[in-house]
Amino acid sequence: MGNREWIARDLRVLWHPCTQMKDHERLPLVPVRRAEGAWLEDFDGRRYLDAISSWWVNLFGHANPRIARAVAEQAARLEHVLLAGFTHEPAVRLAERLTALAPDGLARCFYADNGSSAVEVALKMSFHYWRNRGEPGRTRFVNLSNSYHGETLGALAVGDVALYKETYEPLLMRPVTVPSPDCFGVPRAEWDAHAERLFAHMEAALERHAGEVCAVIVEPLVQCAGHMRMYPPSYLRLLREACDRHRVHLIADEIAVGFGRTGTLFACEQAGIRPDFLCLSKGLTGGFLPLAAVLTTEEVYAAFYDDYETLRAFLHSHSYTGNPLGCAAALATLDIFAEEPVLERNRALAARMGEATAAALADHPHVGEIRQTGMILAIELVRDRARLEPYPWQERRGLRVYRHGLERGVLLRPLGNVVYFMPPYVVTEKEIDLMVEVAAEGIDLATRD
Ligand SMILES: *Cc1c(COP(=O)(O)O)cnc(C)c1O
Repeated sequence: MGNREWIARDLRVLWHPCTQMKDHERLPLVPVRRAEGAWLEDFDGRRYLDAISSWWVNLFGHANPRIARAVAEQAARLEHVLLAGFTHEPAVRLAERLTALAPDGLARCFYADNGSSAVEVALKMSFHYWRNRGEPGRTRFVNLSNSYHGETLGALAVGDVALYKETYEPLLMRPVTVPSPDCFGVPRAEWDAHAERLFAHMEAALERHAGEVCAVIVEPLVQCAGHMRMYPPSYLRLLREACDRHRVHLIADEIAVGFGRTGTLFACEQAGIRPDFLCLSKGLTGGFLPLAAVLTTEEVYAAFYDDYETLRAFLHSHSYTGNPLGCAAALATLDIFAEEPVLERNRALAARMGEATAAALADHPHVGEIRQTGMILAIELVRDRARLEPYPWQERRGLRVYRHGLERGVLLRPLGNVVYFMPPYVVTEKEIDLMVEVAAEGIDLATRD
């Protein structure tokens, strides 16, 4: 069977995520038969360079043989066992590895099975910590504008991307939302000053609300789903210091930026800070399986540790909590980080990405900004470059870039009018050049009229 048959069968029975299904009357689905390295292959034999790591999950290439072997061996030995009352080797080993790699003091690991549930865990744990400590009046969370933390109701509530959130607003708890330190349009040399200025809003919110707040939740350095908007580590240092001063938790959602995306293993390292909760998922398994981990401190753990009758335990679970296959994939992923100079190699790839993009697009009349943090590079399309005036979203300029990419064999999936690259770390310099070339062509076509 070729593409056509699979598309027809799919459209009879499936409902796809993040999709207006009517779009597929004109926009063909891409049925993928196999994948290897940075490349996907469809049922007609056409290949696509995966410039976005299949929604940011893939780190070391599709069907990576080493991770595939680890999963297969684990599946033949123990595919799953409940993690309440029982334990297993991959869960223990992975918790040991993660707590050793994470910023000092994050000594406890709680598993969940996707990014949104990790965020739910962190929110519930923070609230419950304060309750156990005799402060049940802390019921609110502080978040940043333009943030994204997932799409289950709790995670959606602490996010701020209107496209995903607005419809469900009546169902959601209300966070205290503070303007993001997003540095769009600010020259790099002024990022710290900008972030410091914007921090005044956070300080004011904490001053006003600290007594009713459980935690501040942020995506360190890059608001990925929020159009890859970026800010400097100095903001995180100020935030850590203010959270301590006001006695509220800091939740770092590194679901997208963790595992080397920003240039360091974890983005928080660049600020030299330790959050109270670190949420991990996406790249955790190298893109093989859904798994998430929430790391926290011994101090948080201790607030739940008591006689059963005190009813202080954290009674949260998912059926597949700590699934052995996911843990095995994660361990193999961490082995690659341990044995290969991944971050060093990424520095060279990131530099190539930056240079090639600047050469192709820096002077483009409809490119308002090219920004980059490590292996994440974003190109903001604008109607008017001088005034950074955006294109109306209804024009769906990014979709034109997406279509052109597919025609030319590169998977780009712009976020609105922001074209970005977040490739797997096995991408070559030649593939980067192709990715940039096709994106530049697509941008030309998409901004012609
Ligand atoms: C993707 C993402 C999530 C949600 O993870 P899912 O596995 O898609 O539920 C949460 N936070 C951030 C920052 C993300 O990028």
